[in-house]
Amino acid sequence: MEKLVITVAPTGNVPTYQLNPESALTIDEIVSDVKKCKDAGAAVVHLHVRDENLLPTSDRKEYKKLLEKLKDVDIIKQVSTGARGGENSIEWRGQMLDLEADMASLSTGSSNFPTSVNANSPDLIKGLAKKMLDNNMKPEIEVFDLAMIRNAVYLMRIGYLKGPLHFNMVMNVPGSIKGSAKNLMFMVDSIPKGSTWSVSGIGNSQIEMITMAILLGGHVRTGLEDILMYDKDTYATNEMLVKRVVRIAKELGREIATVDEARKILSL
Ligand code: MG
Repeated sequence: MEKLVITVAPTGNVPTYQLNPESALTIDEIVSDVKKCKDAGAAVVHLHVRDENLLPTSDRKEYKKLLEKLKDVDIIKQVSTGARGGENSIEWRGQMLDLEADMASLSTGSSNFPTSVNANSPDLIKGLAKKMLDNNMKPEIEVFDLAMIRNAVYLMRIGYLKGPLHFNMVMNVPGSIKGSAKNLMFMVDSIPKGSTWSVSGIGNSQIEMITMAILLGGHVRTGLEDILMYDKDTYATNEMLVKRVVRIAKELGREIATVDEARKILSL
């Protein structure tokens, strides 16, 4: 089996200091967590930024500052074009796609978050995909249900996405597909041959989804974007979450990919 690529998503849109005092929200906190997670075994970082009030934003200036501070950290950098960073336009959500990053997230359909819409219209998806192609950023296709895989295959056929595709199965967001072993298998069986995939197990699906992905030859994402509590009494830190993935992988006999190995596995 291929080595395991671990992605850390340290910030996301949901975490606040109230929800978890260990949240990584400021640029300095994010940089510090990325370094620790890299040392613990993460090869990819999925980045979000916050504004001066620590609210989610897609602001290019903030991404630029963060990427500059991460310049000397040898880790694959992936920026988020998600729907919760403010205005819902190609220009706003894609404003960071000319910066020095290796990958960007791309949702290929719409779904619900607990209190908002994950709104990705056909034109918006194409617009963001085109910018990624033009800037040589590999999309990580964020799929919240099966239809988004079908749409990604269609977008590849009409030239907006270039294979091999890389998917992240976002499992167990309230309002989207439930994180169960059976659902994950069905998703994985639906992606085109030659694709790579990872899984985000949101909330209490985390350990089951991670373990499934390790056993099935997929890759994993963890971090405070996906889970706030380590167990029912303990706040998670990004580093603790990465270390837990490394431990599970070790017990299951799966080796961890270095950053260079991850670049090859993900065809970067
Ligand atoms: Mg995200």
